[in-house]
Amino acid sequence: MLKIALPNKGRLADDTRQLFGEAGLDIRATGDRALTASLGGEFTGLFVRAQDIPEFVADGAAAAGITGWDLVCESGRELELLMDLEFGKCRLVVAAREESGIQKLEDIQDGVRVASSFTRLTQEFFSKRGQKVTVVPVSGATEIAPHLGIADIIVDLTSTGSTLKMNGLHEVGTVVQSSARLISRKGHLPEAAAKLEELRQALGSVLAARGKRYLMANVPRRVLDTVREVLPGLNGPTVVDVQGGDYVAVHAVVPAKSIYRTIAALKNLGCEGILVTRIERLMP
Ligand code: AMP
Repeated sequence: MLKIALPNKGRLADDTRQLFGEAGLDIRATGDRALTASLGGEFTGLFVRAQDIPEFVADGAAAAGITGWDLVCESGRELELLMDLEFGKCRLVVAAREESGIQKLEDIQDGVRVASSFTRLTQEFFSKRGQKVTVVPVSGATEIAPHLGIADIIVDLTSTGSTLKMNGLHEVGTVVQSSARLISRKGHLPEAAAKLEELRQALGSVLAARGKRYLMANVPRRVLDTVREVLPGLNGPTVVDVQGGDYVAVHAVVPAKSIYRTIAALKNLGCEGILVTRIERLMP
């Protein structure tokens, strides 16, 4: 059975667990130690730290894995990106103290000390820009480094920016945009590649469904053409005759984001019996 490396704890673990559950690949522990688990009887899950996953996958200890794109880039290993999973969104940014006088990347002088746990990406980022900085490696709490006087600026992950702000830091530039990704090693044999494609589709169908709703409504026949414009659906709405009546039943897949407006529009057109449900999986 193919092994899939998954984050055992931390920010990405819960969302990963939920995604696999929704894709019909429930995580069931197989031994006393929580290192491995069955993923719906289809794959073996290998639970390790998010930052170790690029190495595990690149070295072939697992056929594929889920981890943050920032960690994949920092590893420097050549890996294949199979899918963006759209959770764990964050940015690796350059940040400076409010009073540093550094407002933009160009303000960073040669010789500046940059604290980061992403030493490789930091070095590469400034080298490419032709700026000669000194990278100070730290393993956590990067945001306090400028206050301790061990660095002038930092390169750290942020999503809302509130931790930076709380520490009197402001963003100066972005090194990399990240989110959780499904990655694999290049050059799998056809059988393994097919199995990974199956996994990619299963996870993708859950993600595709999250942004959509299934809508049903009874539509007066005379406004059907207008309703078709309101409900483009996947391949146009499904229209079912309601026997002997002036109404037709219309079913469509609609964006969750605009459901409020869609319902209001249908109501205004005289539609009745409007029903909206979640979709578990969507494979167009
Ligand atoms: P962990 O240290 O196990 O919690 O995982 C850290 C990983 O979670 C990072 O490398 C990112 O890929 C991801 N992540 C998502 N949002 C954030 C955030 N706001 N701060 C830090 N890491 C984040």
